[in-house]
Amino acid sequence: MATEDSGNSDWLTRSRAALWHPCTQMKHLERVPPLPIARGEGPWLVDFDGRRYLDAISSWWVNLFGHANPRINAAIVDQMCRIEHVMLAGCTHAPVVELSERLAGLTGLGHAFYGSDGASATEIALKMSFQFWRNVGQPAKTGFVSLEYGYHGETLGALSVTDVALFKDTYAPLLRPTHQVISPDWRRAEDGESAESYALRAAASLEDFLAECADTTAAVILEPLVQGAAGMAMYHPVYLACARESCDRHRVHLIADEIAVGFGRTGTLFACEQADIRPDFLCLSKGITGGYLPLSCVLTTDAVFAAFYDDATARGFLHSHSYTGNALACRAALAVLDLFEQDEVLAVNRHKAVRFTQLLAPIAAHPRVRHFRHTGMIWAFDVEQAPAGFSVDFHRRALERGLFIRPIGASVYFMPPYVIGEAEMAHMAKVTLELLDTL
Ligand SMILES: *Cc1c(COP(=O)(O)O)cnc(C)c1O
Repeated sequence: MATEDSGNSDWLTRSRAALWHPCTQMKHLERVPPLPIARGEGPWLVDFDGRRYLDAISSWWVNLFGHANPRINAAIVDQMCRIEHVMLAGCTHAPVVELSERLAGLTGLGHAFYGSDGASATEIALKMSFQFWRNVGQPAKTGFVSLEYGYHGETLGALSVTDVALFKDTYAPLLRPTHQVISPDWRRAEDGESAESYALRAAASLEDFLAECADTTAAVILEPLVQGAAGMAMYHPVYLACARESCDRHRVHLIADEIAVGFGRTGTLFACEQADIRPDFLCLSKGITGGYLPLSCVLTTDAVFAAFYDDATARGFLHSHSYTGNALACRAALAVLDLFEQDEVLAVNRHKAVRFTQLLAPIAAHPRVRHFRHTGMIWAFDVEQAPAGFSVDFHRRALERGLFIRPIGASVYFMPPYVIGEAEMAHMAKVTLELLDTL
Protein backbone atom coordinates (compact mmCIF):
# COMPACT_ATOMS: atom_id res chain seq x y z
CA MET A 1 0.00 0.00 0.00
CA ALA A 2 0.98 3.67 0.05
CA THR A 3 4.06 3.61 2.17
CA GLU A 4 6.89 6.01 1.69
CA ASP A 5 9.23 3.04 1.36
CA SER A 6 8.55 2.90 -2.34
CA GLY A 7 10.38 5.70 -4.11
CA ASN A 8 9.20 8.00 -6.87
CA SER A 9 9.91 5.75 -9.82
CA ASP A 10 7.70 2.92 -8.61
CA TRP A 11 4.71 5.28 -8.26
CA LEU A 12 5.39 6.78 -11.69
CA THR A 13 5.32 3.43 -13.40
CA ARG A 14 2.19 2.28 -11.62
CA SER A 15 0.41 5.58 -12.18
CA ARG A 16 1.10 5.52 -15.92
CA ALA A 17 -0.17 1.97 -16.17
CA ALA A 18 -3.25 2.27 -13.98
CA LEU A 19 -4.74 5.70 -14.56
CA TRP A 20 -5.58 8.24 -17.20
CA HIS A 21 -4.36 11.70 -16.17
CA PRO A 22 -6.55 14.77 -16.86
CA CYS A 23 -5.83 17.21 -19.65
CA THR A 24 -2.87 15.07 -20.71
CA GLN A 25 -1.71 13.25 -23.82
CA MET A 26 -0.72 10.11 -21.95
CA LYS A 27 2.11 9.32 -24.41
CA HIS A 28 3.83 12.55 -23.38
CA LEU A 29 4.28 11.10 -19.91
CA GLU A 30 7.12 9.07 -21.41
CA ARG A 31 9.02 12.37 -21.60
CA VAL A 32 7.43 14.32 -18.75
CA PRO A 33 6.47 11.93 -15.98
CA PRO A 34 3.94 13.01 -13.37
CA LEU A 35 5.27 14.14 -10.01
CA PRO A 36 4.47 11.57 -7.32
CA ILE A 37 3.45 13.38 -4.16
CA ALA A 38 3.72 11.69 -0.80
CA ARG A 39 2.54 14.57 1.36
CA GLY A 40 2.18 18.33 1.65
CA GLU A 41 3.19 20.93 4.24
CA GLY A 42 1.85 24.44 3.86
CA PRO A 43 2.83 25.71 0.41
CA TRP A 44 5.22 22.76 -0.13
CA LEU A 45 4.69 19.44 -1.88
CA VAL A 46 6.97 16.55 -0.90
CA ASP A 47 7.70 13.56 -3.15
CA PHE A 48 8.44 9.95 -2.17
CA ASP A 49 12.17 10.58 -2.23
CA GLY A 50 11.75 13.45 0.23
CA ARG A 51 12.31 16.28 -2.28
CA ARG A 52 10.30 19.47 -1.75
CA TYR A 53 8.57 21.62 -4.37
CA LEU A 54 6.98 24.99 -3.74
CA ASP A 55 3.39 24.87 -5.02
CA ALA A 56 3.42 28.14 -7.00
CA ILE A 57 0.02 27.52 -8.57
CA SER A 58 -1.94 26.26 -5.56
CA SER A 59 -2.52 22.83 -7.10
CA TRP A 60 -4.49 24.18 -10.08
CA TRP A 61 -5.77 27.24 -8.22
CA VAL A 62 -7.66 25.43 -5.48
CA ASN A 63 -5.44 25.63 -2.43
CA LEU A 64 -5.70 28.75 -0.24
CA PHE A 65 -4.22 27.93 3.14
CA GLY A 66 -1.58 25.35 2.36
CA HIS A 67 -1.58 21.58 2.33
CA ALA A 68 -2.45 19.67 5.51
CA ASN A 69 -3.69 22.81 7.21
CA PRO A 70 -4.28 21.88 10.87
CA ARG A 71 -7.44 23.99 11.23
CA ILE A 72 -9.15 22.65 8.12
CA ASN A 73 -8.03 19.13 9.04
CA ALA A 74 -9.60 19.47 12.49
CA ALA A 75 -12.92 20.70 11.08
CA ILE A 76 -13.15 17.78 8.65
CA VAL A 77 -12.24 15.21 11.31
CA ASP A 78 -14.85 16.63 13.66
CA GLN A 79 -17.51 16.53 10.93
CA MET A 80 -16.55 13.01 9.88
CA CYS A 81 -17.39 11.74 13.37
CA ARG A 82 -20.89 13.32 13.18
CA ILE A 83 -22.21 12.83 9.66
CA GLU A 84 -20.00 12.51 6.59
CA HIS A 85 -22.73 12.74 3.97
CA VAL A 86 -26.46 12.55 3.59
CA MET A 87 -28.50 13.11 0.45
CA LEU A 88 -29.74 16.67 0.15
CA ALA A 89 -33.02 15.84 -1.57
CA GLY A 90 -35.39 15.31 1.33
CA CYS A 91 -32.71 15.92 4.02
CA THR A 92 -30.68 18.83 5.28
CA HIS A 93 -27.77 19.23 7.72
CA ALA A 94 -26.00 21.86 9.76
CA PRO A 95 -22.86 22.53 7.63
CA VAL A 96 -24.83 23.10 4.42
CA VAL A 97 -27.32 25.43 6.13
CA GLU A 98 -24.60 27.42 7.87
CA LEU A 99 -22.49 27.67 4.73
CA SER A 100 -25.48 28.87 2.68
CA GLU A 101 -26.33 31.50 5.31
CA ARG A 102 -22.77 32.76 5.45
CA LEU A 103 -22.37 32.90 1.68
CA ALA A 104 -25.66 34.79 1.43
CA GLY A 105 -24.39 37.28 4.01
CA LEU A 106 -21.17 37.78 2.07
CA THR A 107 -22.71 38.12 -1.40
CA GLY A 108 -26.28 39.32 -0.96
CA LEU A 109 -27.37 36.29 -2.98
CA GLY A 110 -29.64 34.22 -0.81
CA HIS A 111 -30.26 30.90 -2.51
CA ALA A 112 -27.43 28.39 -2.69
CA PHE A 113 -27.54 25.38 -5.03
CA TYR A 114 -24.64 22.95 -4.71
CA GLY A 115 -22.70 20.84 -7.19
CA SER A 116 -19.48 18.91 -6.94
CA ASP A 117 -17.05 20.78 -9.18
CA GLY A 118 -16.69 23.93 -11.22
CA ALA A 119 -18.11 22.62 -14.47
CA SER A 120 -21.23 21.42 -12.69
CA ALA A 121 -21.71 24.94 -11.28
CA THR A 122 -21.57 26.33 -14.81
CA GLU A 123 -24.13 23.77 -15.98
CA ILE A 124 -26.41 24.66 -13.07
CA ALA A 125 -26.23 28.41 -13.78
CA LEU A 126 -26.89 27.92 -17.51
CA LYS A 127 -29.84 25.61 -16.90
CA MET A 128 -31.32 27.86 -14.20
CA SER A 129 -31.07 30.94 -16.38
CA PHE A 130 -32.69 29.16 -19.33
CA GLN A 131 -35.48 27.78 -17.16
CA PHE A 132 -36.09 31.12 -15.47
CA TRP A 133 -36.96 32.66 -18.86
CA ARG A 134 -39.12 29.68 -19.75
CA ASN A 135 -40.92 29.88 -16.40
CA VAL A 136 -41.65 33.59 -16.85
CA GLY A 137 -43.04 33.08 -20.35
CA GLN A 138 -40.02 34.03 -22.47
CA PRO A 139 -39.00 30.65 -23.87
CA ALA A 140 -37.18 32.19 -26.84
CA LYS A 141 -34.39 33.38 -24.55
CA THR A 142 -32.14 30.33 -24.92
CA GLY A 143 -28.81 31.79 -26.06
CA PHE A 144 -25.63 32.36 -24.11
CA VAL A 145 -22.88 34.92 -24.60
CA SER A 146 -19.35 34.55 -23.28
CA LEU A 147 -16.01 36.30 -23.69
CA GLU A 148 -13.38 35.36 -26.21
CA TYR A 149 -10.81 33.04 -24.58
CA GLY A 150 -13.18 32.49 -21.63
CA TYR A 151 -13.09 29.23 -19.69
CA HIS A 152 -16.03 27.77 -17.78
CA GLY A 153 -15.28 24.05 -17.57
CA GLU A 154 -15.33 21.08 -19.91
CA THR A 155 -18.61 19.22 -19.62
CA LEU A 156 -20.66 19.74 -22.79
CA GLY A 157 -22.74 22.72 -21.61
CA ALA A 158 -19.78 24.41 -19.95
CA LEU A 159 -17.58 23.71 -22.98
CA SER A 160 -20.19 25.37 -25.19
CA VAL A 161 -19.52 28.71 -23.47
CA THR A 162 -15.77 28.07 -23.16
CA ASP A 163 -13.59 29.59 -25.89
CA VAL A 164 -10.32 27.68 -25.77
CA ALA A 165 -9.77 26.02 -29.15
CA LEU A 166 -7.51 23.25 -27.84
CA PHE A 167 -10.22 21.97 -25.51
CA LYS A 168 -13.18 22.73 -27.74
CA ASP A 169 -12.45 21.99 -31.39
CA THR A 170 -12.51 18.19 -31.13
CA TYR A 171 -15.96 18.21 -29.56
CA ALA A 172 -17.45 21.02 -31.66
CA PRO A 173 -20.14 18.78 -33.24
CA LEU A 174 -21.48 17.98 -29.77
CA LEU A 175 -21.74 21.57 -28.55
CA ARG A 176 -24.49 24.19 -28.63
CA PRO A 177 -23.63 27.27 -30.65
CA THR A 178 -22.95 30.27 -28.42
CA HIS A 179 -21.77 33.79 -29.15
CA GLN A 180 -18.41 35.26 -28.08
CA VAL A 181 -17.78 38.98 -27.63
CA ILE A 182 -14.32 40.53 -27.57
CA SER A 183 -12.30 40.05 -24.43
CA PRO A 184 -11.50 43.10 -22.28
CA ASP A 185 -7.97 41.64 -21.68
CA TRP A 186 -5.83 44.79 -21.52
CA ARG A 187 -3.02 43.21 -23.51
CA ARG A 188 -5.25 43.77 -26.53
CA ALA A 189 -5.37 47.54 -26.06
CA GLU A 190 -3.89 49.62 -28.85
CA ASP A 191 -0.66 51.53 -28.24
CA GLY A 192 -1.46 54.48 -26.00
CA GLU A 193 -4.90 53.16 -25.07
CA SER A 194 -5.43 52.66 -21.33
CA ALA A 195 -6.75 49.41 -19.83
CA GLU A 196 -9.86 51.33 -18.86
CA SER A 197 -10.63 52.78 -22.25
CA TYR A 198 -9.97 49.43 -23.88
CA ALA A 199 -12.39 47.80 -21.40
CA LEU A 200 -14.99 50.43 -22.33
CA ARG A 201 -14.49 49.65 -26.00
CA ALA A 202 -14.93 45.92 -25.32
CA ALA A 203 -18.03 46.67 -23.24
CA ALA A 204 -19.53 48.62 -26.15
CA SER A 205 -19.34 45.53 -28.31
CA LEU A 206 -21.24 43.52 -25.68
CA GLU A 207 -23.83 46.30 -25.53
CA ASP A 208 -24.18 46.23 -29.33
CA PHE A 209 -24.71 42.49 -29.33
CA LEU A 210 -27.34 42.58 -26.59
CA ALA A 211 -29.12 45.53 -28.21
CA GLU A 212 -29.65 43.30 -31.22
CA CYS A 213 -30.06 39.81 -29.74
CA ALA A 214 -31.47 40.18 -26.21
CA ASP A 215 -34.78 38.57 -27.26
CA THR A 216 -33.01 35.28 -27.85
CA THR A 217 -30.34 35.60 -25.15
CA ALA A 218 -30.69 34.13 -21.66
CA ALA A 219 -27.40 35.14 -20.08
CA VAL A 220 -23.91 36.52 -20.38
CA ILE A 221 -21.29 34.42 -18.59
CA LEU A 222 -17.84 35.77 -17.75
CA GLU A 223 -14.86 35.39 -15.43
CA PRO A 224 -14.68 38.63 -13.43
CA LEU A 225 -11.33 40.52 -13.63
CA VAL A 226 -9.06 37.60 -14.56
CA GLN A 227 -9.54 35.09 -17.39
CA GLY A 228 -7.49 32.29 -15.88
CA ALA A 229 -7.19 29.67 -18.61
CA ALA A 230 -6.58 32.42 -21.19
CA GLY A 231 -3.18 32.78 -19.50
CA MET A 232 -4.22 35.03 -16.59
CA ALA A 233 -5.61 37.75 -18.85
CA MET A 234 -6.54 40.69 -16.64
CA TYR A 235 -8.99 43.50 -17.23
CA HIS A 236 -10.33 46.71 -15.77
CA PRO A 237 -13.34 46.46 -13.41
CA VAL A 238 -15.24 49.07 -15.43
CA TYR A 239 -16.03 46.26 -17.87
CA LEU A 240 -18.05 44.48 -15.19
CA ALA A 241 -19.98 47.64 -14.34
CA CYS A 242 -20.82 48.14 -18.03
CA ALA A 243 -21.76 44.48 -18.51
CA ARG A 244 -24.11 44.72 -15.53
CA GLU A 245 -25.74 47.83 -17.02
CA SER A 246 -26.14 46.26 -20.44
CA CYS A 247 -27.64 43.09 -18.95
CA ASP A 248 -30.11 45.17 -16.92
CA ARG A 249 -31.02 47.37 -19.86
CA HIS A 250 -31.74 44.40 -22.13
CA ARG A 251 -33.13 41.97 -19.53
CA VAL A 252 -30.40 39.37 -19.78
CA HIS A 253 -28.85 37.53 -16.82
CA LEU A 254 -25.27 38.08 -15.78
CA ILE A 255 -23.48 34.91 -14.61
CA ALA A 256 -20.24 35.63 -12.74
CA ASP A 257 -17.97 32.60 -12.88
CA GLU A 258 -15.79 33.21 -9.81
CA ILE A 259 -14.74 29.57 -9.66
CA ALA A 260 -11.08 30.60 -9.95
CA VAL A 261 -11.13 34.21 -8.72
CA GLY A 262 -13.48 33.86 -5.74
CA PHE A 263 -12.27 33.65 -2.14
CA GLY A 264 -9.76 36.44 -2.20
CA ARG A 265 -7.71 35.74 -5.33
CA THR A 266 -8.21 39.20 -6.79
CA GLY A 267 -7.71 41.03 -3.48
CA THR A 268 -11.38 41.24 -2.48
CA LEU A 269 -13.34 38.24 -1.26
CA PHE A 270 -15.18 38.21 -4.58
CA ALA A 271 -13.97 39.94 -7.74
CA CYS A 272 -17.40 41.47 -8.48
CA GLU A 273 -16.99 43.65 -5.39
CA GLN A 274 -14.37 45.69 -7.23
CA ALA A 275 -16.99 46.89 -9.68
CA ASP A 276 -19.63 47.12 -6.97
CA ILE A 277 -21.98 44.86 -8.91
CA ARG A 278 -24.14 41.90 -8.01
CA PRO A 279 -24.52 39.18 -10.64
CA ASP A 280 -27.74 37.21 -11.10
CA PHE A 281 -25.77 34.00 -10.63
CA LEU A 282 -22.46 33.58 -8.85
CA CYS A 283 -20.54 30.34 -9.49
CA LEU A 284 -18.06 29.29 -6.83
CA SER A 285 -15.77 26.27 -6.48
CA LYS A 286 -11.96 25.66 -6.34
CA GLY A 287 -10.89 27.66 -3.26
CA ILE A 288 -14.27 27.21 -1.55
CA THR A 289 -12.96 24.22 0.46
CA GLY A 290 -9.40 25.52 0.60
CA GLY A 291 -8.49 22.89 -1.99
CA TYR A 292 -9.55 19.97 0.20
CA LEU A 293 -12.71 18.50 -1.25
CA PRO A 294 -14.76 18.89 -4.43
CA LEU A 295 -17.62 21.33 -3.89
CA SER A 296 -19.26 23.99 -6.00
CA CYS A 297 -22.08 26.38 -5.42
CA VAL A 298 -24.34 28.62 -7.50
CA LEU A 299 -25.83 31.54 -5.60
CA THR A 300 -28.75 33.45 -7.05
CA THR A 301 -31.29 36.18 -6.39
CA ASP A 302 -34.73 36.16 -4.80
CA ALA A 303 -36.19 37.04 -8.21
CA VAL A 304 -34.73 33.93 -9.84
CA PHE A 305 -35.71 31.73 -6.93
CA ALA A 306 -39.29 33.07 -6.98
CA ALA A 307 -39.76 32.14 -10.65
CA PHE A 308 -39.27 28.44 -9.73
CA TYR A 309 -41.34 28.46 -6.52
CA ASP A 310 -44.69 26.92 -7.43
CA ASP A 311 -47.09 24.04 -6.87
CA ALA A 312 -46.10 22.52 -10.21
CA THR A 313 -43.15 20.12 -9.87
CA ALA A 314 -41.94 20.80 -13.39
CA ARG A 315 -41.45 24.51 -12.66
CA GLY A 316 -38.91 23.56 -10.00
CA PHE A 317 -35.21 23.11 -10.69
CA LEU A 318 -35.05 19.35 -11.16
CA HIS A 319 -31.27 19.00 -11.20
CA SER A 320 -29.15 16.95 -8.83
CA HIS A 321 -25.80 15.38 -8.13
CA SER A 322 -25.40 12.53 -5.65
CA TYR A 323 -22.89 14.46 -3.57
CA THR A 324 -24.83 17.75 -3.60
CA GLY A 325 -24.00 19.69 -0.43
CA ASN A 326 -21.60 17.04 0.94
CA ALA A 327 -21.23 17.64 4.68
CA LEU A 328 -17.45 17.16 4.85
CA ALA A 329 -16.92 19.59 1.98
CA CYS A 330 -19.28 22.17 3.51
CA ARG A 331 -17.48 21.87 6.85
CA ALA A 332 -14.15 22.46 5.10
CA ALA A 333 -15.70 25.53 3.46
CA LEU A 334 -16.88 26.84 6.84
CA ALA A 335 -13.34 26.38 8.19
CA VAL A 336 -12.06 28.39 5.20
CA LEU A 337 -14.47 31.24 5.96
CA ASP A 338 -13.38 31.15 9.63
CA LEU A 339 -9.76 31.44 8.56
CA PHE A 340 -10.57 34.49 6.41
CA GLU A 341 -12.22 36.18 9.38
CA GLN A 342 -9.95 35.15 12.24
CA ASP A 343 -6.68 35.79 10.41
CA GLU A 344 -7.82 38.91 8.52
CA VAL A 345 -6.56 37.20 5.41
CA LEU A 346 -7.55 39.88 2.90
CA ALA A 347 -5.68 42.60 4.79
CA VAL A 348 -2.62 40.39 5.31
CA ASN A 349 -2.63 39.44 1.63
CA ARG A 350 -2.65 43.10 0.62
CA HIS A 351 0.64 43.60 2.47
CA LYS A 352 2.10 40.38 1.12
CA ALA A 353 1.15 41.37 -2.41
CA VAL A 354 3.00 44.68 -2.16
CA ARG A 355 6.14 42.92 -0.95
CA PHE A 356 5.85 40.15 -3.53
CA THR A 357 5.46 42.66 -6.35
CA GLN A 358 8.71 44.29 -5.16
CA LEU A 359 10.46 40.92 -5.16
CA LEU A 360 9.26 40.35 -8.71
CA ALA A 361 10.51 43.73 -9.98
CA PRO A 362 13.62 42.18 -11.60
CA ILE A 363 11.33 39.84 -13.54
CA ALA A 364 9.06 42.70 -14.62
CA ALA A 365 12.18 44.52 -15.88
CA HIS A 366 13.68 41.50 -17.64
CA PRO A 367 14.20 42.12 -21.38
CA ARG A 368 12.27 38.97 -22.37
CA VAL A 369 9.24 39.80 -20.23
CA ARG A 370 6.17 41.46 -21.68
CA HIS A 371 2.86 42.47 -20.12
CA PHE A 372 3.88 41.91 -16.51
CA ARG A 373 0.55 41.99 -14.67
CA HIS A 374 -0.82 41.62 -11.20
CA THR A 375 -4.24 41.39 -9.56
CA GLY A 376 -4.53 40.51 -5.86
CA MET A 377 -2.68 37.22 -5.30
CA ILE A 378 -2.07 36.49 -9.00
CA TRP A 379 1.01 37.60 -10.95
CA ALA A 380 1.65 36.82 -14.60
CA PHE A 381 3.80 37.79 -17.56
CA ASP A 382 4.43 36.72 -21.13
CA VAL A 383 7.83 35.53 -22.37
CA GLU A 384 9.11 36.89 -25.67
CA GLN A 385 10.71 34.51 -28.13
CA ALA A 386 9.58 31.52 -26.13
CA PRO A 387 11.04 28.46 -27.89
CA ALA A 388 8.82 25.52 -28.92
CA GLY A 389 7.97 23.43 -25.86
CA PHE A 390 8.66 26.39 -23.57
CA SER A 391 5.97 25.63 -21.04
CA VAL A 392 6.95 21.97 -20.63
CA ASP A 393 10.66 22.80 -20.39
CA PHE A 394 10.02 25.61 -17.92
CA HIS A 395 7.94 23.26 -15.80
CA ARG A 396 10.61 20.53 -15.85
CA ARG A 397 13.55 22.79 -15.17
CA ALA A 398 11.68 24.50 -12.33
CA LEU A 399 10.98 21.11 -10.72
CA GLU A 400 14.74 20.40 -10.68
CA ARG A 401 15.04 23.62 -8.65
CA GLY A 402 12.23 22.85 -6.19
CA LEU A 403 9.46 24.88 -7.80
CA PHE A 404 6.17 23.45 -9.04
CA ILE A 405 4.85 25.75 -11.76
CA ARG A 406 3.05 25.22 -15.10
CA PRO A 407 3.07 28.10 -17.57
CA ILE A 408 0.10 28.40 -19.96
CA GLY A 409 1.84 28.60 -23.34
CA ALA A 410 4.29 31.48 -23.03
CA SER A 411 2.45 33.01 -20.05
CA VAL A 412 4.12 32.31 -16.74
CA TYR A 413 2.02 32.92 -13.65
CA PHE A 414 2.26 32.70 -9.88
CA MET A 415 -0.87 31.93 -7.92
CA PRO A 416 0.51 30.78 -4.56
CA PRO A 417 -1.40 29.61 -1.50
CA TYR A 418 -2.04 32.57 0.82
CA VAL A 419 0.20 31.03 3.53
CA ILE A 420 3.26 31.72 1.37
CA GLY A 421 6.06 33.55 3.20
CA GLU A 422 8.66 36.00 2.00
CA ALA A 423 11.52 33.47 1.73
CA GLU A 424 9.31 31.25 -0.39
CA MET A 425 8.31 34.14 -2.59
CA ALA A 426 11.98 34.96 -3.07
CA HIS A 427 12.68 31.33 -4.05
CA MET A 428 9.97 31.54 -6.70
CA ALA A 429 11.40 34.77 -8.09
CA LYS A 430 14.98 33.47 -8.12
CA VAL A 431 14.21 30.23 -9.94
CA THR A 432 12.07 32.09 -12.47
CA LEU A 433 14.83 34.60 -13.22
CA GLU A 434 17.37 31.81 -13.68
CA LEU A 435 15.09 30.07 -16.13
CA LEU A 436 14.39 33.28 -18.06
CA ASP A 437 18.12 33.60 -18.62
CA THR A 438 18.67 30.01 -19.70
CA LEU A 439 15.55 28.82 -21.54
C1 LIG B 1 -11.51 25.61 -13.17
C2 LIG B 1 -12.60 26.45 -13.70
C3 LIG B 1 -13.85 25.92 -14.05
C4 LIG B 1 -14.14 24.44 -14.00
O1 LIG B 1 -14.01 23.90 -12.73
P1 LIG B 1 -13.74 22.32 -12.58
O2 LIG B 1 -13.83 22.07 -11.13
O3 LIG B 1 -12.37 22.08 -13.14
O4 LIG B 1 -14.79 21.63 -13.37
C5 LIG B 1 -14.82 26.77 -14.49
N1 LIG B 1 -14.60 28.09 -14.58
C6 LIG B 1 -13.42 28.65 -14.26
C7 LIG B 1 -13.25 30.12 -14.35
C8 LIG B 1 -12.37 27.85 -13.83
O5 LIG B 1 -11.18 28.39 -13.56
